[in-house]
Amino acid sequence: MSSPVKTPLKEHLQAKLPYPLHSLVDIAFNFWWSWTSEQVSIFRSISPQMWEQYHHNPVKLLECLPSERLAQLATDPHYIKRVKALADQFKQYMQATDTWASREASQFSRQQPIAYFSIEYGFGLCLPTYAGGLGILAADHLKSASDLGLPLVGVGLLYRQGYFHQCLNAQGWQEEQYWDYPVEELPLELCQDEDGETLTIEVQLGKRLVKAQVWQLQVGRVNLYLLDTDCEDNEPNDRHLTDRLYSGDRDTRISQEILLGIGGVRVLQRLGYEPQIYHLNEGHAAFAMLEVARLEMERTGKTFDEVKDSVRGKGVFTTHTPVPAGHDAFSSEQVDHYFSHYWSQLGLSKQEFMALAKQPSEDDEDSFNMTVLALRLCKAANGVSKINGEVCRQMWSGLYPECCVDEVPIDYVTNGIHAHTWTAPLMSDLYDQYLGEDWANREIDERVWERVDEIPDREIWWRHQRLQERLIAFVRSHVQLTRRKRGDSDESIQETERLFDPNVLTIGFARRFSSYKRGDLIMHDPDRARAIICNLERPVQIVFAGKAHPADDKSKEIMQRLVEWSHHPDLKNRIVFIEDYDMHIAEKLVQGVDLWLNNPIRPQEACGTSGQKASFNGVINCSILDGWWPEAYQTTVGDKGLNGWAIGDGTSVDDPELQNQLDAESLYQLLEKEIIPCYYDRDEEGLPHRWIAMMKASIKTVAPFFNSDRMVKEYVQKVYLQPVKALEPITVR
Ligand SMILES: *Cc1c(COP(=O)(O)O)cnc(C)c1O
Repeated sequence: MSSPVKTPLKEHLQAKLPYPLHSLVDIAFNFWWSWTSEQVSIFRSISPQMWEQYHHNPVKLLECLPSERLAQLATDPHYIKRVKALADQFKQYMQATDTWASREASQFSRQQPIAYFSIEYGFGLCLPTYAGGLGILAADHLKSASDLGLPLVGVGLLYRQGYFHQCLNAQGWQEEQYWDYPVEELPLELCQDEDGETLTIEVQLGKRLVKAQVWQLQVGRVNLYLLDTDCEDNEPNDRHLTDRLYSGDRDTRISQEILLGIGGVRVLQRLGYEPQIYHLNEGHAAFAMLEVARLEMERTGKTFDEVKDSVRGKGVFTTHTPVPAGHDAFSSEQVDHYFSHYWSQLGLSKQEFMALAKQPSEDDEDSFNMTVLALRLCKAANGVSKINGEVCRQMWSGLYPECCVDEVPIDYVTNGIHAHTWTAPLMSDLYDQYLGEDWANREIDERVWERVDEIPDREIWWRHQRLQERLIAFVRSHVQLTRRKRGDSDESIQETERLFDPNVLTIGFARRFSSYKRGDLIMHDPDRARAIICNLERPVQIVFAGKAHPADDKSKEIMQRLVEWSHHPDLKNRIVFIEDYDMHIAEKLVQGVDLWLNNPIRPQEACGTSGQKASFNGVINCSILDGWWPEAYQTTVGDKGLNGWAIGDGTSVDDPELQNQLDAESLYQLLEKEIIPCYYDRDEEGLPHRWIAMMKASIKTVAPFFNSDRMVKEYVQKVYLQPVKALEPITVR
């Protein structure tokens, strides 16, 4: 099924492009292009400069291309051949019937699919609907569902301004900038109703009825529907409701979540879908299950209690956040304001309604907790790594007084990443040669990855070095541009030419700046760190990136300390903070550094997928044993790292200051005694064979398991198809 869409832009492009290039239009309107063998090159090679200027938006690029350039392309036999090959590949992909899901999950169909709800999605630079790992995970989930032929539709919100753009002022303090993305120029299509009018749904927010229109984004064979309140009929304030992700007050937050959950279910109903499963990626979308119940009551004439089991049978919930404060909760007054019209439609009293989302232990009588709501109304729940599953069982055990912590029905499915999205073409080309061209379709087969051993050391190192040079060129030009924009001195702008050295061990640290991730751990003992970095024979360089939430001053202070430190005369060419972290920067970093560092406070890292992206590119991980790393980390007989390094021994102390000291000490020792000696141990040709052996071990041990194909298959088999168990959280009255 695919809904009717308005396609003025598509039609316009079709008319504009000369015949041999026609198929580029369909390709541009399906994010599938971003993970083909050509990746971005089919578009970027048309005009690298315009590609950057338009934030990697292929539709805008085609739209703005001068006609001489189009005529050139249309008469370039080499380019036409590439377009034709890609168009054939696209057609085959879209029409394939012999897929994994056709064999293993045939109970799902286009009309009765899995519905996947997420407040963020990270598909690419041109679509700013993500803040971090949660969104990237959601996008990778959709891509793998498409690759596996799994009938699935996504639901989310379209943020016209996205999360925010980060600028650091001269004092290293994060400032936020917002601007509108030109939504009408993105590879999105507006859904239409039966009469050819823009399809809208309504939700009630307090006293107001608010409309939302729906944009369809094609992700291979999967459709993603993004709700957008910027409709002419809405009050001016409501038109801005979906401007920004994770910003604004509690009212904006609950309104966005009502729109996503309740509005999202209405969209799917309007489009004719009858989902068999509603998968909630985090608690933000938990209101969806209320609307599923309401519709079922309406359809069957039954009561809430009577439909509850059947509703639970359709819900599955993935929880990420391992700290209680990270879970969305709304006040009783907010619930009054936004739901007083709604609980009566469910035949519930306010008290019964509140009880659906109340923690039994909660002193705060008033709180309506979205995670509790999701746990109550879903048949299955899971964390996103083994250790995260344990933490979640512990955290929510109060809801299940009749069972011990180990029996709390929260399982885990460890996250994985989409291989073709995150593997550099230079590396995937190597895998094509040595593993076979279909390696990505057989990536969960460990035997495929055994063949990594056959890649000559010289060959893999050569490619890794090229990727590192590209990263360094990117770092220099990016930093130069930000210094220019900030109005820094000419001297400082010129100095960017001396930033970084391709022959130096390069460490990457990039993720959201949230205080538990301890972005400044490496400078715990600044003198010792400086001695390590500035060692004359065996120096180290580090690239940092990441945004702090606009309201999180504590994390902004961590960032500021780090940036100030990087200005030290000894360090200024060795440490750099890249502003405005996004998927494009993430890609450059995970493909181009030597070592990927992660040092969160245990056990607060839900999973941490960036290290998995690094492994696919032969980058080695050095991480606290938290999130996914305890599942992946392997040692040799001598208890040394085989496929990477572990900071600490996987135990924790209660005193946070002491913990920082212990972890920093462990990190320094690893760097001094193992990592740096290993990297600089070269043969006469300059090859670091011991390091390369670890690169290969990193690829071989991580790739077969920590990919999103394995993850989606596990969701199907372990979660979506799980029978409803009787065990459900107690309801407090
Ligand atoms: C992969 C990715 C993340 C997630 O990183 P973690 O290691 O899970 O913290 C965050 N932001 C971007 C842009 C990413 O690409």
